[in-house]
Amino acid sequence: MSVTMMRAAGPRVAAAALAALVTVGGLQAAGAAEAGTTPILAHRAEATFDITKHTVAITDHIVVPAGLAFLRLGDGLAVTRLARAGQPPLAPAKVLTRVDDKPADGGPWQRLDLAAAGLAGGGELDLAYGGMFNSPVDQVEFSRENVGGEISATISAEGIYLASSSGWLAGADSTLATFDVSLDTPAGYETVTQGRRTEHFDEGGRLRTRWVSGDPSDSLDLVANRFVITCETIRDGLESCTYFLSDDPALRTTYLERTRAYIAMYEEMIGPYPYAKFATVENWFPTGYGMPSYTLLGGQVLRLPFIPYTSFGHEIAHNWWGNSVFVELSEGNWCEGLTTWSADYHYKELESPAAAREYRRNLLKEYAAYVADPAKDFPLKDFHNRHSGATRAVGYGKSMMAFHMIDRAIGRGKFLAALREVAATHRFRAASWGDFLRAFGLDDAFAAQWLRRTGAPSLALADVRFGANEVSFRLTQAAPAYDLDVPVVVSGPGGDSEHIVHLTGLDASFKLAVAGATKLAVDPDCQLFRHLDPAEIEPTIAQVYGSDRRVFVTDGAAGPQAEAALAFAHAFTESDSVQIVDGALPADDRTAVLVNPGAALLAKVAPAGLTVAGRSFYLDGTRYSLDATDLVFAAPDPRRPGATLLVVVCGSPDRLPGLAGRVSHYGKYSWLALPAGQGRVERGNWPAGASPLLATR
Ligand SMILES: [Zn+2]
Repeated sequence: MSVTMMRAAGPRVAAAALAALVTVGGLQAAGAAEAGTTPILAHRAEATFDITKHTVAITDHIVVPAGLAFLRLGDGLAVTRLARAGQPPLAPAKVLTRVDDKPADGGPWQRLDLAAAGLAGGGELDLAYGGMFNSPVDQVEFSRENVGGEISATISAEGIYLASSSGWLAGADSTLATFDVSLDTPAGYETVTQGRRTEHFDEGGRLRTRWVSGDPSDSLDLVANRFVITCETIRDGLESCTYFLSDDPALRTTYLERTRAYIAMYEEMIGPYPYAKFATVENWFPTGYGMPSYTLLGGQVLRLPFIPYTSFGHEIAHNWWGNSVFVELSEGNWCEGLTTWSADYHYKELESPAAAREYRRNLLKEYAAYVADPAKDFPLKDFHNRHSGATRAVGYGKSMMAFHMIDRAIGRGKFLAALREVAATHRFRAASWGDFLRAFGLDDAFAAQWLRRTGAPSLALADVRFGANEVSFRLTQAAPAYDLDVPVVVSGPGGDSEHIVHLTGLDASFKLAVAGATKLAVDPDCQLFRHLDPAEIEPTIAQVYGSDRRVFVTDGAAGPQAEAALAFAHAFTESDSVQIVDGALPADDRTAVLVNPGAALLAKVAPAGLTVAGRSFYLDGTRYSLDATDLVFAAPDPRRPGATLLVVVCGSPDRLPGLAGRVSHYGKYSWLALPAGQGRVERGNWPAGASPLLATR
């Protein structure tokens, strides 16, 4: 063994002892021994990388808790030594079996039988193994619903990326682990992972780094590349770093500034940041991941101007929700809803009440679009992760609205106090929806209605009578009835006033004392998670994404135009099987996507305010040339009331296939004017129809 290993052996003991005592923001960080009843594996691993051969050689000393049946190790890794600590080696074939069933996150894999290794009662295991990881990364693209996902491990001169799902370190389901990993890479290849970097030195053309992560987590992903690293101290014991593939002072400044601002915001909102660092890491292929104490973003995503102000904050918020307060899944995954509330939604609240309202309304529109088919709906208790528009609309949207309704019901002060309580009592432990509901002071009725039940209330307004000093009305809802605090906004000479009426049954009458009332609106600000009435929703692009049964309609021309339309259809559906018809809307109820339709069909579907004439189109009085700008819009389907179709008018067959990916970012809009090159996508929404939940004098 090399001299570098000797040097590592000395400081290890001291560093491990320090890690257990480290304090963050005054609270003692929970170490392995404090993490409750969850079994903890402890790894002390050394990994040596060969980027030309795409291989890694690993030795891992694992402390195994009692009662574990087996460990999972990546397929294709060759185990050369396997022994209980201090015992003679065992024959790997007696302990390892290859398992072909595919677990959710990959497979096949190797099963290491802990009883056969004499570790049924726990103990220490020494493993030496190695293998090749060489997944091609040039095909990785952002998918609408499945971000990244495909690559689990690769080792090359371009970079090293080892996701835990590759099984590069042994792990067990539902078992947390602590990690102490020493990494040997070619000089210049800087490594980054969770935890604190405790060693970093060059020797003999190699770089040696060591990361100690003494707080339990469910997995460890590792990245290495020729990073330019910049760090700054946020406060004692906490630093913020950027790991970028090239020096980019403006970008670095933005991310360091945002990191500081988000951590300050969340420390005040939720409690102490749980780790010793936060790193923003640039990846050389597209990813958008939040890991404990770092985020891994593809270079393109990193440079999108809105990312530092949206997704980046969401990933930082996950360091509290999900990464350090773990998710107890048996009652459903609360984590995305709460992270969305704490990040995406909270930023809208800080912007303005109107922006927050628009955000809530968009969530209800998404629910209407993606869960229009009741068969796609499911209760929040069954949400684990998102893999479709419907799972996002429920697992993120409905969940976020559940937290919003609780916030409204108990008030911001109590709401945040409860979040802080759960964060403090469940740091490095799993929390369930029930833990949150108890902290909020809510009983099981909330869970029965919002977590265990599928669907959403549908409200209707009737018999509105405006008197001189009062306004009376009836509210009805579809069966079975929800127990709801319904906001009703009454407008009169004194301005708008909000009243909360309590609706418990299917039908109830109410009377509000408001003099000279002229207008009454039921939940106009979308404070409730509910089915929007179709009349409340303008056509949006998302409604077309929400349909599984789509047909593409072209103008019937052959040649490059038809080929481009086909390529667009494949990209739009993210599928190889698409149906294309020529010329006219088919006489069935499939959702239609019109790709460069003929003039007559176009005129039939274009809403008021939009005209397409020759190589130009006019939108609300603005002229655009199709030489430089493409048009995409959602419109009412003339075949079916309430249904939406999509129209794509593209000035060039070269640009058409690429439009599908661009459009996918703008589902909540009705129309887009997309510049041919770089530049801002103009977008907007058609006006919504008159709400049936609104009455005027
Ligand atoms: Zn998230």
